[in-house]
Amino acid sequence: MTLPTSAISTDFAPFLIQPHFDPRIWGYRDLRPWFDVTAGDEPIGEVWLTGDQCLIASGHHAGKSLGQLFAEAPAELMGSIAHPGSPLLMKIIFAKEKLSVQVHPDDAMAHKYGEPRGKTECWYTLSAEPGAAVALGLKPGVSMDEVRAGIHNGTLESFLNSVPVAKGDMVFVDAGTVHAIWPGAILFETQQYSDTTYRMYDYGRPRELHIEKSLEATKLATRSGKIPAQALSDRTVLIDVEYFRIERIAVEKSRLSSTLRRDGEPQSGLSYLFAADGAARLVSDAFEPIEIPTRNIAVVPAASPEFTVENSGDLDLIRIIPRWPEAAA
Ligand SMILES: [Zn+2]
Repeated sequence: MTLPTSAISTDFAPFLIQPHFDPRIWGYRDLRPWFDVTAGDEPIGEVWLTGDQCLIASGHHAGKSLGQLFAEAPAELMGSIAHPGSPLLMKIIFAKEKLSVQVHPDDAMAHKYGEPRGKTECWYTLSAEPGAAVALGLKPGVSMDEVRAGIHNGTLESFLNSVPVAKGDMVFVDAGTVHAIWPGAILFETQQYSDTTYRMYDYGRPRELHIEKSLEATKLATRSGKIPAQALSDRTVLIDVEYFRIERIAVEKSRLSSTLRRDGEPQSGLSYLFAADGAARLVSDAFEPIEIPTRNIAVVPAASPEFTVENSGDLDLIRIIPRWPEAAA
């Protein structure tokens, strides 16, 4: 769908989001050189790049929270498709220790329990030590009885696939997949905007478990796994599934925002630009230039004027486009 030209608004020029640093018991005490941040009392595990609580850091709406802007201006942000609230949550995960073994519901199970949506997610590997791996899905032939027994006697891990990850790998984590993030890799996570995690096993840590719901959500086989990158002439598609598409955009010196859209993509819709490495600058006659610092995200609203993306040095630009199966249903 295309917004009428009159909907293009300098008030909805691209804007920067201020990351939010979230404490987790399994996190890092020192995020340098990734972010110039050290932890207070509790280690930092998750850096939320598009959380509803994140503040808008540039432009007309600076100082508002992202959640407030999505509530106020869904059409200007997302175009003609009305999605309730922010569609995608992007985070960077800093795991010093293993996260819990967990599973997320699919949309159908989430609806059954009054949640707006399930959680399908993916992990793009920003860096990995030699031998780094994640736990993803049950080994072939494992039964639900074995999973239940493994939770209770502490052997659940032996039933999980260990998937090695290297820098640049994209891992798809379909809803219903038993999974765990292990230390050794720094992951950029994109997920349906949902809070619903069922913790299955937590290595004896005193956090709450959700065993019955985790078993209900678990699927013995899912579509999860490493996704081979698809190289096109001007970009690399890292993943393209029903909830999101993520691509690495080649920007040698600069390119026009109109060239970011692909054939078949709506002329106006929401997208996010993530500087995975290096920095980007967005320039236009219609708005003040915006710098996207390393490991920050800018939102490109549906109603944004056209602009030019410039490579300010060593830019590794990742573009995330939300997709809308809920609206189509
Ligand atoms: Zn998860």
